Amino acid sequence: MRAMILERAGEPLRTAEVPLPEPGAGQVLLRVRCCAVCRTDLHVVDRDLPDPDLPLIPGHQIVGVVEKTGEHTDGFTVGDRVGVPWLGWTDGECRYCLSGRENLCENARFTGYQIDGGYAEYAVADARFCFPIPNGYPDLQAAPLLCAGLIGHRSLRLACDPERLGLYGFGASAHIVAQVAAHENRRVFAFTSPGDDEAQEFARDLGAEWAGSSEEAPPEELDAAIIFAPVGALVPAALGAVARGGTVVCAGIHMSDIPSFPYELLWGERSVRSVANLTRQDGQEFLALAPKVPVHTEVMPFPLEKANEALQTLRDGKIRGAAVLFAAPP
Ligand SMILES: [Zn+2]
Ligand SMILES: [Zn+2]
Repeated sequence: MRAMILERAGEPLRTAEVPLPEPGAGQVLLRVRCCAVCRTDLHVVDRDLPDPDLPLIPGHQIVGVVEKTGEHTDGFTVGDRVGVPWLGWTDGECRYCLSGRENLCENARFTGYQIDGGYAEYAVADARFCFPIPNGYPDLQAAPLLCAGLIGHRSLRLACDPERLGLYGFGASAHIVAQVAAHENRRVFAFTSPGDDEAQEFARDLGAEWAGSSEEAPPEELDAAIIFAPVGALVPAALGAVARGGTVVCAGIHMSDIPSFPYELLWGERSVRSVANLTRQDGQEFLALAPKVPVHTEVMPFPLEKANEALQTLRDGKIRGAAVLFAAPP
């Protein structure tokens, strides 16, 4: 099969022909229809995250069709359309798994990081971590739901039911969260890089009542903010924008260092927290919610072989919505 392979972190992916993987017990082989590109993929490729399992096929927002099932994959049939998220395997027995927090599992393995992912024509996945894709979503539009959507959903749930929600960085995740938040009658305030008029207009189109630069103060205090951009300096900025009791959620897996800031910004029972990974329950909840909103994802499709171009476009902040790789049909 054709795959895009990361041989050394910090270098571009290479197009390669590799053997078709075989599904083991509990696994399914999927023919990949498409795979959305996540900022985490960039962090893996750019060496921001330690020890990827090299050589590696990145990609953890896979929409695929079951081609073959291993033993013990009851409930999965050849031809089923499923999605594969970032959380690829957990031990099921550590203190986190046993307390409903499998997203924090000490031995978790992640798709497109320790497990080969979806930048390929085929992928193998643990059936227990695959989700059915809601009907009515075309493949390309479904793919960004699997991480941008899921992580956004978890972040919004942990933002403590805000009336006024700030979103810092208006990329794949924020463009989905904005729709969910508007559906829930929250007021959305979107912050982008200074001068990114296109992203600000995009945010207003998706229901934000205000959009401006992350260097500006919002027109009124916020109840919570979610930071999607990997920029540590946004933490004190967001703390300065939230009201007493407000929550700042850092949704990304990696961020530049957070500069020191006066305690006054945190005082008043403001809190800062991160969101790490997802649980399967998050996936089930969000994939049930998305069609009710309904969430419409905006995608920029790239052929599989153009994965490096898709990553560069994301690095440059030039993706509107989500980039999605697709393999040409056989
Ligand atoms: Zn565990
Ligand atoms: Zn992701």
